[in-house]
Amino acid sequence: MKLLQNVGVILLALIFSADLFSQEINSKPPHLCGTPPDRDERLIYYQQNLGNYRFLTDDTLFIPLKIHILGKNDGTGYVSRTLVEESFCNLNEVFLHTGIQFFIKGDFNYIDNTDWYSHDSFSAGERMILSNNVPDALNSYFVDNAAGACGYYNTFVDGVVVANFCLDGIDQIWTHEIGHQFTLPHTFYGWEATIYNPDEPTPEQIMLFGQWVEVEKMDGSNCREAADGFCDTAPDYLSYPWICTADNPLGIFLTDPLGNMERVDGSNIMSYAFGPCRNSFSEEQTQAMRMNILLDRPDIVDPSIKFGPVESEVTIIHPAENEIVQYDEAYLKWESVPNATYYQVQLTSLPFFSNLLVDEVVRDTFLQLPQLVLENQHMVRIKPLSEFQPCNNFSNRRAFIASELSNTDLFPGIDFQMKIVNPTSLNRGVEIELKGLEESDLDNVELRLSDINGRMISQLNSQQYSGNKVHFETGGLSAGIYLITLITESGGMISERVILQ
Ligand SMILES: [Zn+2]
Repeated sequence: MKLLQNVGVILLALIFSADLFSQEINSKPPHLCGTPPDRDERLIYYQQNLGNYRFLTDDTLFIPLKIHILGKNDGTGYVSRTLVEESFCNLNEVFLHTGIQFFIKGDFNYIDNTDWYSHDSFSAGERMILSNNVPDALNSYFVDNAAGACGYYNTFVDGVVVANFCLDGIDQIWTHEIGHQFTLPHTFYGWEATIYNPDEPTPEQIMLFGQWVEVEKMDGSNCREAADGFCDTAPDYLSYPWICTADNPLGIFLTDPLGNMERVDGSNIMSYAFGPCRNSFSEEQTQAMRMNILLDRPDIVDPSIKFGPVESEVTIIHPAENEIVQYDEAYLKWESVPNATYYQVQLTSLPFFSNLLVDEVVRDTFLQLPQLVLENQHMVRIKPLSEFQPCNNFSNRRAFIASELSNTDLFPGIDFQMKIVNPTSLNRGVEIELKGLEESDLDNVELRLSDINGRMISQLNSQQYSGNKVHFETGGLSAGIYLITLITESGGMISERVILQ
């Protein structure tokens, strides 16, 4: 019986969507949502239990979100990563007042499949979601054509799909679809197949997919039974996109079945207002979403996972401002920023950040720089980030000069040598010999094994070696060129290349 009902809903949804979008042929696709209208049984339960003390805590729930980026078969057409990250940060900003916050689970999942990238039908989208959803997370897909809509949520396979062209920084389509994912209907629920006409009397009930839905009255007398079932979302009859501005969320006058009139309010995310006024959920919607997470999606909540805000200021330890550094052995070292889990590092030899020599994301607080331009000033800047906050400002820039330095410049007072003892041994590890350093000097040095791009593989501190021989394990590495770098307490550094075969 459940299956038959589902099939019925799917068929109706398809008819509905075909009807909904036929008016937009040959024009830019509409800023519409393709989620089939539904008042979920779970939502009815939540609405009967609003105010239950268990869901009234102020604890922030951190929810993992898996992001899937669709491209064509040839690997082209992906939406810009930056745009997705900015939209993600906007999502968290809108959800902030609900105590629900998202973090990005793992890397973006890039999928090359032209049929899914541009799908006309919900069934193709459903196959995409079924094949790629990861468990213990909410899943969102970014495509070129989302079955003709700006976005939709597929309740049967639990996936949100967003059309790339709708990620424009104004539209809240992603936020809106995640609202659906947490069981929220439109504020105008019931009107999805009916265009409101202010010149005609408003009926007590309207027909939606063969079922009568009560029209919500202005006096709140039927708010729990009518429309979306929320008593703190104002009556809304507008199932077509309409424009609102940041300082005015109000639209046309609506007349309810009793003849009372109010202006429609577009500030709710689940309305069809299009514009910056649409930016919040109501208290009851918030409670329903939290109940959906805590009662019906316990797998996506891990109370031990917490994130905090990431500041943009970074303390760069090396190089110092205007320091002269060895052009082919320069490195960058900075203090870790609280709550940051990775950093974007940019390096240029120009007076502005263009034609970058480095534009890299690192999880470390150290980066070996590539060969610099001799006798040139360089500038570096760092952006601290996290899975929770993939948007931030860059730190203040740090300028330094690349030059050819002698060893004495690098290590004043120390006649220092680092010798690779067994340069070709992949399976026995690498042994290096340090000459010219007293054992006491080793107390405050760091030794790092990095790949040729400066990505650190392993690090030894002074507790891990004695004497003047140091051993690096190389098991698990592939053959290639690596760097061994020694950094002294005073910031001096020397690197040696080692070829592992
Ligand atoms: Zn919608």
